[in-house]
Amino acid sequence: MIVQELHKIQQRHGFLPKDELHELSHRLGTPLYRLNEVASFFPHFRLEPGPKVEVLVCHDMACHLRGGELMREELQRQFPEGSRDVAVRPVSCLGRCDRAVAATVNGRLYVNCDAARLADTAKAIAAGTKPAHDRDDSQARHAPQPWLCDVYQGKPEYRAARAFLANADADGFAAQLKDSDLRGMGGAGVPAHQKWTDVRNTAGDQKFIVCNADESEPTTFKDRELLLRTPHLIVEGMILAGLFTGATRGYVYVRHEYHEQIEAVQHEIDRAEALGACGANVFNSGRPFFLEVFESPGGYICGEQSALIEAMEDRRAQPRNKPPQLETNGLYDKPTLVSNVETFAWVPSIAIHGGAWYRDLGRPGCRGARFFSICGDVRKPGAYEVPCGITLGELIDDFAGGMAGKLKAVALSGPSGGFVPATLPLAELSRGWQEKLPKSFVEKTLATKLPTYDIRDFPLDLQCSRDMGLMLGAGMMVYAEGSNMLDHALNCLEFFRNESCGKCVPCRIGTQKMVEIAASFRNQAASRAKPASWEPVIADLAQAMELTSICGLGVVAPKPLTSVLKYFPEDVASFARS
Ligand code: SF4
Repeated sequence: MIVQELHKIQQRHGFLPKDELHELSHRLGTPLYRLNEVASFFPHFRLEPGPKVEVLVCHDMACHLRGGELMREELQRQFPEGSRDVAVRPVSCLGRCDRAVAATVNGRLYVNCDAARLADTAKAIAAGTKPAHDRDDSQARHAPQPWLCDVYQGKPEYRAARAFLANADADGFAAQLKDSDLRGMGGAGVPAHQKWTDVRNTAGDQKFIVCNADESEPTTFKDRELLLRTPHLIVEGMILAGLFTGATRGYVYVRHEYHEQIEAVQHEIDRAEALGACGANVFNSGRPFFLEVFESPGGYICGEQSALIEAMEDRRAQPRNKPPQLETNGLYDKPTLVSNVETFAWVPSIAIHGGAWYRDLGRPGCRGARFFSICGDVRKPGAYEVPCGITLGELIDDFAGGMAGKLKAVALSGPSGGFVPATLPLAELSRGWQEKLPKSFVEKTLATKLPTYDIRDFPLDLQCSRDMGLMLGAGMMVYAEGSNMLDHALNCLEFFRNESCGKCVPCRIGTQKMVEIAASFRNQAASRAKPASWEPVIADLAQAMELTSICGLGVVAPKPLTSVLKYFPEDVASFARS
């Protein structure tokens, strides 16, 4: 309630005026400090009036690679701090990594930006005229292929929900879900069947379904496309979850920068209600399931599911200690299923075609299909539906149009997994990986008899990646020769520093310390000094963060730096800024 009310006030005034906060406090019977507690946590909420024109240039991975930082610096020279009308600032990932550089001007999104165009737009708005480039270009850049997950091929019918009610066979539905081996697509890869069944089996007078659409990790933008193109699958997946678990209310928690996606989902919810697919009496079954959109005030940490629940409960989005798990004690302490957009999107087709259909979509030895977003030095960055087990090389060549340059490194999980070199020493892979992986994935490597692994042969499959000791996320970024990986590591460290929620001291202080250390290498590199003396300090700090952090952010935050020290020492030595 607080978050949504703050959104409304900010929409009216452009910021949160004190008298409006007093009025809200009075109206809700909520102390003012509680409103300030929430408002001051999320950078989206503004406590003071903003400039006439605010240009926010994305600071993170893909935009950094395409020169976003230099573009911002150029704009800041044109509109220096304190200039009357225009302010230029950095902003965290806007979710348009396939069309870098991304920026917003007074909240309106611009992609494939250059400094001249942004400057013209800012000047036009400041002068009260219409900008020449006034298009919110968030549509997919390349012609979309039909997706297997869209069982209705764009003509939503809610057949799966109707069949669920007609068959009255929840156990049969659970068996199909189990047979499919559908995994949570948000990162952890927990079997969907397990989560759904846990919520179903937990007693509760009220249960909730939450779709986590707060996709804020640099390089990850697959949910953006699913929300836009197939909102009916997400809505139906959530209805099925409600009917299966006994939940009566669901929320689609969407990041506020996804304007078109919020509209698309709201439109589909309205349509589903008109069809009787959700609302007070789902298809005349006597069972209610209400759905609504919750516009997230934003922040990478909101993607952590317990932090997301905290935000929904009008608190700072800081992850909870676990246990208890959300499946038993979630939203308002009630049993709650929180799943990723894509997980819900696959469920209608699994319900209609059966679990075996989905499972068999994978390459031999792998199960299912999924979406990956890929960006950086490829010719066609985008979000692609692929069979699990497809290799990284196939994703790059057959879907993403091939490399623009020679592959140097890949971030297999956005900023979270560090950087892996194009050729990885075999000794870096988990012991016994050759025995664990399906034969077809190891034959080529063994045949070369080289002590190295070609990362292009890496199978994009969660289990394979775990067996090999590599981290695989939903978004990845590739770097061609010519990139300095310490420069990109510093960029990732700054991201984690900026997005740490501050709850754990080692994460709050450690992320800042990591930035300072990496930045200091720039000076050492200029004098050709080797920063080896820092390596034990970095290792100790990384271990402390890993052992004491409440959530994954603190655990993974050091990886960009530790991976660069391990695999790209020459980049550390040459990290002097021209
Ligand atoms: Fe917050 Fe970092 Fe602790 Fe996670 S690890 S809860 S982001 S301070």
